[in-house]
Amino acid sequence: MWPNGKKFAFTVFDDTDNDIIDNVLPVYQLLTQCGMRTSKSAWVYPPRDGFQGLSLLDSRYQRFISAIATQGFEICLHNVGSGEFDRGEIYAGMELFREYIGSYPRVHANHASNPDNLYWGSKRFVAPLSLLYSTIRRMQGSPPYSHGDETMSPHFWETWRESASSMCATSPSMTSIPLR
Ligand SMILES: [Zn+2]
Repeated sequence: MWPNGKKFAFTVFDDTDNDIIDNVLPVYQLLTQCGMRTSKSAWVYPPRDGFQGLSLLDSRYQRFISAIATQGFEICLHNVGSGEFDRGEIYAGMELFREYIGSYPRVHANHASNPDNLYWGSKRFVAPLSLLYSTIRRMQGSPPYSHGDETMSPHFWETWRESASSMCATSPSMTSIPLR
């Protein structure tokens, strides 16, 4: 399964929430010094909700992300931004991602309660756990989310991946989905 006869692989996927140059630059300098090349997610657009963090539309941050991409770090998607984005914005965001990074993202990890998340929320579970999860969320007053895979939703973007290349990864706190 693993190349060169290795018995396992280890990787790190960096959630981009709360990124500013001052808190990420030292981390990537250290990883570079240690010879480690990990996966770093990025938002294309600035947050539209209560989350904080820079995006690729910030020119200094975009240069930082491009620089670490050149050094061999894998740049991934953490939705095109934090908050609500419709299909047109998501598709345009993919083009901006390619313009800035040089290729489309090969890995996507869902972010928090973004409505454009893929197979997230209760969809992570099978019945009856999925029903229980949905009921508890409704009782907490949380609206349903994870509409990126629902064809009638304005947040639907799942089929975008048919024009992109492949991907895969997972972490306990995120669902990462192959984009093809
Ligand atoms: Zn996040």
